[in-house]
Amino acid sequence: MDHPPPDTKNWSWVLTRPCPQCGYDATSTDPTDTPALVRANAASWRVALSRGEIVDRRPPVSPGQPPVWSAVEYGAHTRDVYAVSTKRLIQMLKKKAPTFHDWDQGQAAIDDGYAQSDRNRVSYDLASAAGKMADLLDKVRGEQWQRTGTRSDGTEFTVAGYALYILHDVTHHLWDVEQGFQSIADADADANESGTPPIAEDEPSSDGSPRP
Ligand SMILES: [Zn+2]
Repeated sequence: MDHPPPDTKNWSWVLTRPCPQCGYDATSTDPTDTPALVRANAASWRVALSRGEIVDRRPPVSPGQPPVWSAVEYGAHTRDVYAVSTKRLIQMLKKKAPTFHDWDQGQAAIDDGYAQSDRNRVSYDLASAAGKMADLLDKVRGEQWQRTGTRSDGTEFTVAGYALYILHDVTHHLWDVEQGFQSIADADADANESGTPPIAEDEPSSDGSPRP
């Protein structure tokens, strides 16, 4: 199976202006609202991952285009984003200006078999991981929001900035999933009209997906 190319873009601009794709706006989000927003995001994922077999299908892509992740693959990635980010937030809260270990998200998708994951299991584990992050953020007080940490690519975050950044990541992936559902539905409708079977989707892209 082909895998989406790793995302190497720096998405830290999402802290300073609204995302033109998913519409998330960090500048109008108060960090103290992030626990509630994380729980709301997990609830939306639960709905998205409960849509049956479409969740396991990769959206069709034009010839020559990189593969795109299925909803269950995006869900498994988002579950891991929550888990990795919670560890990093704990580091920031406990250590002085830590540097985070690198996380190779493309490799994780392969090693952990995202494409073969059970969608109900992913849904449950994503909600659990999001709940842990929300519980942690609930305990952050006052100046703790300004504690810092640095990603392995040199990007520095505060606790507040990182919480807002991750909230974009998990929101944007839901948007990715909705786009995928739409292209699958469109391809199925086209196939029904022309009487040809739907395009086989053995190619998944996390291209353009933010890195946590
Ligand atoms: Zn976005």
